[in-house]
Amino acid sequence: MLRSVILAASRSTRIERLVETAPFTRDVVRRFVAGTTTDDALRATRQLVGDRLAVSIDHLGEDTVSGDQAVTVRDEYLALLGGLAEAGLTPATEVSVKLSALGQKFDERLARDNAHAICAAASAAGTTVTLDMEDHTTTDSTLDILAELRKDFPGTGAVLQAYLRRTEADCRELATAGSRVRLCKGAYKEPESVAYQSAREVDKSYVRCLNVLLSGQGYPMIATHDPRLIAIAEDRSRWFDRTPDQFEFQLLYGVRPDEQARLAEAGHTVRVYLPYGTDWYGYLMRRLAERPANLAFFARAVASR
Ligand code: FAD
Repeated sequence: MLRSVILAASRSTRIERLVETAPFTRDVVRRFVAGTTTDDALRATRQLVGDRLAVSIDHLGEDTVSGDQAVTVRDEYLALLGGLAEAGLTPATEVSVKLSALGQKFDERLARDNAHAICAAASAAGTTVTLDMEDHTTTDSTLDILAELRKDFPGTGAVLQAYLRRTEADCRELATAGSRVRLCKGAYKEPESVAYQSAREVDKSYVRCLNVLLSGQGYPMIATHDPRLIAIAEDRSRWFDRTPDQFEFQLLYGVRPDEQARLAEAGHTVRVYLPYGTDWYGYLMRRLAERPANLAFFARAVASR
């Protein structure tokens, strides 16, 4: 119920303005977002890489509404990738890209072309791109664009969301040699017709998908903070004889840093998803919707003012 209310608020421009201008917001944002500029992202990345963590950087923004805006986002990624290569932060660092920020909602071809340019820059910088997955109305289009990009850049990664009923079948399709798949639970508000609604059903789906990916030929990227699912993934990776270079764990910046360190210490590859930029509202609201404790953090920041 609370999750639905917060996810609905994440689409409200009125609430967005209220949150953005509230005095306590900065402290909350700082916990989950690396900063607003490319330099902020590079600084945070350097620190994480120094702690033996891999990184996927996300330039925040989604649902772009004009071609100019989409090209600006593309150029931001090109500059970021240049900066990463110059700083010697690749290949430990890759980038995550939302196709809706590149124009997917109004011009699929433009989004594909922009993504292609980002993949080319990533390849030149010695790294890869993962296409984030957004709400279910974009899944087919995102997977179609992924297939096109992989013709030129086979290392391009996809995200599959365990809450979608279709995802186990998508995992089978994508569990092929050279394919990089990030498995997450899913962060959007989706109808029952397409998505499991209870946490238990989502978790069971996650484990089924995990089995498909770990027993397949691709490179699974296990994106969750859920201790039970992490334990199951550690166990199944041993069962399927996966060595540490054959799969990785992924967690969000600012979430369970102790667990990030523990997994890395245990010899796993751990990648931190690091967002930066000024357009942080939708991202922050999804994080708050995921976990009441994050809301408590928000409330503490308000109270301390
Ligand atoms: P939850 O169900 O949120 O939490 C399960 C349990 O984990 C909790 O009960 C608690 O025990 C523990 N836990 C969770 N958070 C914390 C915390 N802050 N502190 C302590 N314990 C905690 N979603 C998309 O839809 N598309 C994407 O492209 C996408 N990319 C992602 C990339 C990465 C690297 C990650 C980690 C997530 C991504 N997500 C994406 C978000 C994802 O779908 C989930 O919404 C999000 O990860 C929360 O689900 P969870 O698996 O962490 O478990």
